[in-house]
Amino acid sequence: MSSVKPPSQIAHIGIAVKDLSRTVPFYTELLGLHLVGYETVESENVRVAFLQIGSTHIELLEATSTDSPISRFIEQKGEGIHHIALEVDDSVERLSFLKKQGVKLIDEVPKQGAHGSLVAFLHPKSTNGVLLELCQRGAR
Ligand code: ZN
Repeated sequence: MSSVKPPSQIAHIGIAVKDLSRTVPFYTELLGLHLVGYETVESENVRVAFLQIGSTHIELLEATSTDSPISRFIEQKGEGIHHIALEVDDSVERLSFLKKQGVKLIDEVPKQGAHGSLVAFLHPKSTNGVLLELCQRGAR
């Protein structure tokens, strides 16, 4: 048995889209999800729309510049599921633990994400091709 504390839940599922204004109505009007709001995340050159689903969220991501990771993703793979975010309350400790275990990290130190959260990505080469985000809720 592992003594590692499990992440508390799926914080959100990130979906890369070309155009938020064309995508959000599908989720709100046709699926009936509640739009929590929009936010621009400067560090990632993305604009996100958060939709609530139960106690978790769907995060729609639109690139705000051509060198955004989201524009590169869409160029290579098209629109679709981009990442899965796991909610943790110990991202710094977890990153150093994972690094010691040989897990390839994209972010060795958490950075500022949406809603004042701290986020860090694990490299898909170490996670069976899934881009995993560790997401730690901010103080606010
Ligand atoms: Zn995310």
